[in-house]
Amino acid sequence: MSTLSEEAVVTKAPKELFIAGRWRPSGSGATLPVEDPATGDVLTEVADATAEDGIAALDAAVSVQAEWGRTAPRERGEILRRAWELIVERTEELALLMTLEMGKPLSESRAEIAYGAEFFRWFSEEAVRIEGRYSVSPNGSGRILTMKQAVGPCLFITPWNFPLAMGTRKIAPAVAAGCTMVVKPAQQTPLSMLALADIMTEAGLPPGVLNVVTSSSAGRVMEPLIRDPRARKLSFTGSTPVGQRLMEQASHQVLRVSMELGGNAPFLVFDDADLDAAVEGAFLAKMRNMGESCVAANRFHVAARVAEPFAEKLAERLSQLKVGRGTEEGVDVGPLIDGRAREGVDALVTDALQGGARALTGGGAPEGPGYFYSPTVLLDVAPDAKMTREEIFGPVAPVYRFDDEDAAIAAADATEFGLVAYVFTQDLKRALRVCERLEVGMIGLNRGMISNAAAPFGGVKQSGIGREGGREGIEEYLYTKYVAVDL
Ligand code: NAP
Repeated sequence: MSTLSEEAVVTKAPKELFIAGRWRPSGSGATLPVEDPATGDVLTEVADATAEDGIAALDAAVSVQAEWGRTAPRERGEILRRAWELIVERTEELALLMTLEMGKPLSESRAEIAYGAEFFRWFSEEAVRIEGRYSVSPNGSGRILTMKQAVGPCLFITPWNFPLAMGTRKIAPAVAAGCTMVVKPAQQTPLSMLALADIMTEAGLPPGVLNVVTSSSAGRVMEPLIRDPRARKLSFTGSTPVGQRLMEQASHQVLRVSMELGGNAPFLVFDDADLDAAVEGAFLAKMRNMGESCVAANRFHVAARVAEPFAEKLAERLSQLKVGRGTEEGVDVGPLIDGRAREGVDALVTDALQGGARALTGGGAPEGPGYFYSPTVLLDVAPDAKMTREEIFGPVAPVYRFDDEDAAIAAADATEFGLVAYVFTQDLKRALRVCERLEVGMIGLNRGMISNAAAPFGGVKQSGIGREGGREGIEEYLYTKYVAVDL
């Protein structure tokens, strides 16, 4: 149990729109409710922006872009460094706020805050390493000069599952590169992002560089901005269907886009794997964030010889987890985000059971208020079950059997998504062979956790375009200008 009071943390959290460095209500005066998914009760209300509020936020970002783009890289880096320090200092308060609005256990909120803050530390170091090139043209008569410049005002749209980190992965490199921005967090979890806006001001970020609008009508507020000729970049994290729609809208201005979209991660266990390590990896890859993660293992493809013991060990591990309100001591698994999410997970489980799968643990929702779902392991799920193709986004682990390496890879890649895969084997040659062949942007090799601010995060196929984090992350916010020099 946190020593902070829930009420005090919610009362203190900013709830208005953050535009041009000032807090202000929605132009219409409207507010939208924020629910605690562990109880279904309304925690508080935040401003519900109008389309005009969105334009005002873009006006603010545009008006300071030129000046902000000219600031010294060291200055931008130091603001980011201070933001990292402030977030780390306030971990407990931010973690409680995040748990209240999103539901994950406090230990996971603390982990997200450490991960989310790390992007500020990483990009504080990258801000001073933006480099160009000077070279002699091949015929010797001229010189080729290239420089990297800030792309300009950016639009960010983020999901509810990681209320802070999905924003900091975009905000930190944009600040480092010298871009200004308008951020629209998910309507179900706006409080963490609003709290971050306050911290960025305290860290010294000038007014107008970061603007945050919360709204119950994402399309009405964001589409005019995406179509506004003053915007230069759209970065979206969320579902593939919404990402596709936003890419269509972005095509009118030929906006640069980064898309971090849905996943359907395969988790491969070969018969030479260390089974206990694979079960521990499976636990992490499945249960982090209650399975509500784009990198959650969605399908466990296991060598036929070890499928049964693997599934039994995983079921044993998951059956020991404590499900409950994330603010309570000892809770491992919080609620899903809302009733619709829980119904969706339950429908996938029912479909798999009807198709012949066996539940080794779980298989339904516990009684009581809140949107909880029991950790579930299903063995012998049919290849044509709906959960084989769809993102489960819940604490459900379907186990399938495979006969050989080719079959494992074919099963793993049989999806339109290509975000991440997990591979467990002790054979080095097989490990590298499989890593080379899989069609994904990221691989966890003998580990169930891949997120790292220093690594390029992103997918292929319908999982997205672009990378967040690592050396690559800042490139999304820079464009290359070439100067042909005559000597
Ligand atoms: P979502 O429904 O696509 O929503 C994401 C964001 O888009 C929210 O802020 C939402 O606003 C906004 N939005 C919805 N419709 C919009 C529209 N027409 N115009 C502009 N904005 C719009 O996704 P979600 O359910 O929140 O998140 C889960 C999905 O995100 C999963 O598919 C997951 O895999 C993916 N995800 C991917 C990554 C990655 O890095 N690849 C990371 C995390 C999550 P509202 O809140 O108002 O609906």
